[in-house]
Amino acid sequence: MAARKIYFCGEPILRKKAKRVRRVDDELVKLLDDMAETLREAPGIGLAAPQVGESVRAIVIGEVGEDDEQMVVHKLINPRIVEAEGEVEGSEGCLSLPTLQAIVLRPQQVVVEALGPDEEPVSIEAEGWTARALCHEIDHLNGKLFIDRAEPDSLAWMIPDEEDERGYRLQNVSLAEALAMFQRLVEKARAEN
Ligand code: ZN
Repeated sequence: MAARKIYFCGEPILRKKAKRVRRVDDELVKLLDDMAETLREAPGIGLAAPQVGESVRAIVIGEVGEDDEQMVVHKLINPRIVEAEGEVEGSEGCLSLPTLQAIVLRPQQVVVEALGPDEEPVSIEAEGWTARALCHEIDHLNGKLFIDRAEPDSLAWMIPDEEDERGYRLQNVSLAEALAMFQRLVEKARAEN
């Protein structure tokens, strides 16, 4: 397992509809393992294959287990939302748009069906943060980012601030300014390769 490079907003692959997986092969299983490793290292609560440069319908979702320590990582292939209920506002961020957050309306509960890496069908019933993460990652497979769904004027940078109990404070930013910032990140990442 090896962590992979995360692609930033501004890379065209993040705006493409990802391909449906027809056959689960060793390469895909390795991709999912690498994505799980990338997620643990980041750390994050979800990651979609296009974020590591692979335009296929595969996501990983981390869930803190009952002992509150070990993160369980769900590896899902061709995930789709088959049921959604309720609506809830919450702040959201993304590893492809580091330090940006915004308020996004998401379903309170979802049921997601997918295939596991062993090609067995899986069905996940989730609510709260896990439901939010599932919706966010499935959006990635359709070329959608959370900024597309963000409530107007809720976009903000998280600025580290030890005096704030959250460890950061929020500084409002316009979408155009944020996009320009990520474009610079994309160019910097490309120059490094
Ligand atoms: Zn994301």
